[in-house]
Formats: sequence, structure tokens, C-alpha cells
Amino acid sequence: MTKYKSAIILFSVFEAIAVALWLSTGNLFFLLNFSYIGFSLGIGLALMAAGWKYAREFVQFCVGSYMLVFLGLICRENMQMEGFWYYLFSGVVGAGVLHYAIAKIFGPLLFGRGWCGYACWTAMILDLLPHKKPAGPRRRLGFIRYIMFALSLGTVILLIALGKANKTTMFYLFVAGNVLYYAVGIILALVLKDNRAFCKYICPVTVFLKPMSYYSLLRVRCDESKCIHCNRCLEVCPMDVEVNRDARNRKNATECILCQKCKKICPVKALK
Ligand code: SF4
Ligand code: SF4
Ligand code: SF4
Repeated sequence: MTKYKSAIILFSVFEAIAVALWLSTGNLFFLLNFSYIGFSLGIGLALMAAGWKYAREFVQFCVGSYMLVFLGLICRENMQMEGFWYYLFSGVVGAGVLHYAIAKIFGPLLFGRGWCGYACWTAMILDLLPHKKPAGPRRRLGFIRYIMFALSLGTVILLIALGKANKTTMFYLFVAGNVLYYAVGIILALVLKDNRAFCKYICPVTVFLKPMSYYSLLRVRCDESKCIHCNRCLEVCPMDVEVNRDARNRKNATECILCQKCKKICPVKALK
């Protein structure tokens, strides 16, 4: 049972959130929503502990497609950053604001960029592309994320100022935003030969994710006394993390998506 401990803890945390939100708001949606996400994550972690190769991708599709198709396209909730700003400025603490608060703002203090490794619907498609290992060194394009962040915020402020911000506009913005993200993400991955290029340079959500995940309790640790400096962990990392150092400020530390590829390949089990 010990190897399934993380799965049980994660499921229990989500179940506690589900019940707390349901009881405090009286809204059954919160119970079903967070129970489903917690169940998917719990099953995924259990499958990972059992050694199934595609466990992470399984969770990505369970959670990512639920958010994109069910919450986004069927329930018409804008789950992207524009939806977060819209609901925040409207004073509505609904699915969009809670989603950001839990998955992308405060949750990363606990589970780092777990969202990026296990739940993001953009990455669930990008990870299917052929360039799982970046072909070249990281480029100095990270500044684009701040431009995207400002554009997202500016768009919603403009819509509010023009009196055009409403659920219908936000739904079309959600559809258009996703089409754009997929198109840019796929083109960039193919041109730069790096599936996660969009995550590294463009995604505005990382403006929240990176500083918060710096303090994450959950992180890949390296026992440097065991490391034989074979560099295999560096070669498989999709996010260019200098994971064979244990310091919190290792190069690209806030980029780790907890995919576990480095841990699986380490020949001396130096990574925990
Ligand atoms: S960086 Fe952005 S696009 Fe990439 S996985 Fe994270 S939230 Fe998704
Ligand atoms: S390979 Fe290791 S360091 Fe790189 S993102 Fe995955 S878990 Fe993090
Ligand atoms: S794979 Fe393991 S032994 Fe090799 S460099 Fe990374 S941490 Fe060190």
C-alpha cells in the first residue's frame, strides 16, 4: 500500500476541497467537479506507481478533456486566463476563479507545476507531438509570456470598458483563444523541435505558475552524493531543468512539470 500513498493523499485532498466547497456554497457542481478531478489524479498516480508507462498522459486526457470539452465547450465556462480576469472583476467566485486559485496560484505552493504535467488541455495535445526531448538549447524568448499576460488582461479590461464583457463574448473568446494557442503551440513545437516550446516562451499562465512553484513543497530532489553525473536526467527533461542539483535555485527550477521522466531514467536512483 505504501507505493499508493501519494495517490490516496491527493484524492483525499481533492475530496476534502469538494465537500468543503459543496457544503459552504450548497452547489453540487463543486462536489462533482473536484471529486472527478481528484479521482482522475488518484487513479493516474496509482497507475504510475504500478509502473504503467502512459499513466501521466492518461490523467492529462481525463482532466484536460473534461475541462476543455465539458466545462469549456458544453458548460460554456471560460477556463482560460481571460475567464479568470472576467469573473474576478465581476466579483463572481465561480469555476474560473476557483480553478485559477487552486490549480495555478495557490496550489503550486504545494504541487508546483503539477497542473502543467497532468492536467493542462493545451499540453495534452502538445505532448503527442514528436519532439519530446528539446532538440537544442533554450532560447531567450521567455519575455513573450509577459506580453501575452498583458494582452490577456488588457483584452478583458477593454471588453468591460466597452460594455461587451458577458458570458457569450467570453465563450467566443475561449474558443478563439484555444484555437490560437493550439495553432501557435503546434507550429512552434515543430519549428523549434521542442514540444513544450509554447510552455517555455508563450504561455501567460506561467507568470503565476513560476514564482509560486519556486516554493513548492513537492519537488524532485537530488541526492548529490549518489549522482554519478551521467547527465541522462538532463537529456530526457522536456523543460531543461538542471535536476541533478538539489538547490532550489537550480537552472530552470520553476519549469519542472513533475513528469518523473528524470527519476525513471536515473541509473543510481539519485532523484526522489
Ligand atoms: S505552461 Fe501553460 S500551456 Fe504549458 S502546460 Fe502549463 S498551463 Fe499549459
Ligand atoms: S524530467 Fe524531471 S526535472 Fe524535468 S520536468 Fe520532468 S520531473 Fe521535472
Ligand atoms: S541521471 Fe541520476 S546519476 Fe545521472 S546525472 Fe542525473 S541524477 Fe545524476
